[in-house]
Amino acid sequence: MKVTDKKIQELKSRTRKIIRSLKRAYPDARCSLNHSSAFELLIATILSAQCTDARVNIVTQDLFRKYRKPEDYLKVSPKELQRDIRTTGFFRNKTTSIQGAAKVLHEQYGDEVPQTMDELLELPGVARKTANVVLGNAFGLSAGVVVDTHVTRLSHRLDLSRQKTAEKIEQDLIAIVPKKEWVMFPHLFIAHGRATCKARNPLCAECAVEKLCPSSYLKTGVMPGS
Ligand code: SF4
Repeated sequence: MKVTDKKIQELKSRTRKIIRSLKRAYPDARCSLNHSSAFELLIATILSAQCTDARVNIVTQDLFRKYRKPEDYLKVSPKELQRDIRTTGFFRNKTTSIQGAAKVLHEQYGDEVPQTMDELLELPGVARKTANVVLGNAFGLSAGVVVDTHVTRLSHRLDLSRQKTAEKIEQDLIAIVPKKEWVMFPHLFIAHGRATCKARNPLCAECAVEKLCPSSYLKTGVMPGS
């Protein structure tokens, strides 16, 4: 066996243990963007760029009452939609993405959200992260692993990936996370990132995966992220 194969086996085994421990620590981990359809989840995920899920949920409470299907987003001026989503930030770009995506869904997919990565990536404003969120959480399809800021930080600290870009980190994770966990894995990392493995001053002494983490300050004496 080559060293790299050995390393992959070690990573797979450690990753399975990390998932087990985090499932015990966060039994309620799930998608925190409120939605009642694949289309609503697509809109919420576009809005979530550079914005907290809590803020997006406040905005979508009214938004999803006003706009129920793709066509509804095409009936208003960009200015009006910008006003409706203003507090999520980057509202001009997000308006362009939402109205662009709504147009394609209305004209090409009969107002339905497509269920393949390739088709989703064709929608304006939709990159792999958004497509993975929708496929995994609205359709239960494991097409990839969502990589956001929490998944990036924890993957580095737990030494599951040393890559810098989300696309490359996702490829590393796909190689070591069991496919049946691809949808849940980011929810666990996001829950752990918010509660314990924070960007600054992570709570290593209280961490459910401390024994599996090479970056723990209990081992290194150095606070991660400092
Ligand atoms: S031990 Fe510390 S750095 Fe490692 S995962 Fe836990 S909180 Fe994060």
